[in-house]
Amino acid sequence: MPDTADLDDRARASRPLPKPGIMDIHAYVPGKAKAEGVAEPVKLSANENILGSSPKAREAYASAVDQLHIYPDSRTTILRNAIAEQYRLEPERLIFGCGSDEVFALLNQTFLEPGDNIVQGEYAFAAFAIGAHACQAEVKIAREPDYRIDVDEILKVVDGRTRLVFLANPGNPTGTWIPFSEVERLHAALPPSVVLVLDGAYSEFALDPTFSDGLDLARTASNVVVTHTFSKLHGLAALRVGWGYAPAEIVAAVDRIRLPFNTSIPAQLAAVAGLKDLEFQKASIDHIEQWRPWLTQQLGGLGLDVVGPSATNFVLVGFPKTPGKTAADADAFLSARGLLTRRVLNYGLPDHLRITFGLEAHNRALVDALAEFMKG
Ligand SMILES: *Cc1c(COP(=O)(O)O)cnc(C)c1O
Repeated sequence: MPDTADLDDRARASRPLPKPGIMDIHAYVPGKAKAEGVAEPVKLSANENILGSSPKAREAYASAVDQLHIYPDSRTTILRNAIAEQYRLEPERLIFGCGSDEVFALLNQTFLEPGDNIVQGEYAFAAFAIGAHACQAEVKIAREPDYRIDVDEILKVVDGRTRLVFLANPGNPTGTWIPFSEVERLHAALPPSVVLVLDGAYSEFALDPTFSDGLDLARTASNVVVTHTFSKLHGLAALRVGWGYAPAEIVAAVDRIRLPFNTSIPAQLAAVAGLKDLEFQKASIDHIEQWRPWLTQQLGGLGLDVVGPSATNFVLVGFPKTPGKTAADADAFLSARGLLTRRVLNYGLPDHLRITFGLEAHNRALVDALAEFMKG
């Protein structure tokens, strides 16, 4: 036993205490999956793929049943090669994770020490900050006027302790995006010591020709990481597969701390099959392309404040502050009718709901219900 005089406060405590900051973290709040009194509600609360997943991915997943006793390939080689081929990337520059969430956490762990900071937009995806706080780093917030990332606001808050800038483009929960020229301008103005993380979770739904996921920038830059996920377009959220494309030096650092078997065999097999199923991907994008304008127009027509334009498979909708007509009221009203949406209080947006685009019947039911709600 060390001399009690040498003990710090945590060592003197009567029970084990987590390191400072951990208990101040707001744990991630997932989208609702249940509604009271409704047997099979429609889940429009987690931006999952409403078409399900590729039949080929499902088949590949099932084919893994005889390999459950075997450790997965720790290099994720089959998926690594498939992604490298499809996107024309160097396979050794890929990082895999248990969802892209884990890739963000690994980047934070690799670059942050206490007192360092990350910079993100004011409505940034919650996972970035959770991981940074876990490293006892600070989170610096850049304003997002009009619910959109503003490069100058980001540059204003970057300082000498900034190690990473996180930018989901398009963003969640806003659904908005910035053109590639702005991403390039941000990159050009950042110090070369800062990692720019471009989270492309929804990039396949962003169809404007001036949009880019940034892979072309990442090919040559020494400080850009682009992430993608199998959770949204590919409809494989349950399997938890995400990847990042990073400079070789960053991959070498991350690979030192990554858990060795962080993607499972069923997940690897299903992801490879999903990646090759261009038909399913096209159907998923076509579905969004069909319903996004319709829902935007219908919800706007009800007098709701539709944030956008959305370049994702969901939309952020603002509600009045009038009692009876608030976002909380609307959420309860829709829930009772089996339509689950996402409140976004934890993003500082108490007057908004985030709504994933559904199948035709869901979308029509949603508009009908909200029309009744707004009239009532
Ligand atoms: C859903 C989502 C992801 C993907 O998370 P996974 O861990 O890969 O499932 C990443 N970024 C944003 C902004 C998202 O909304």
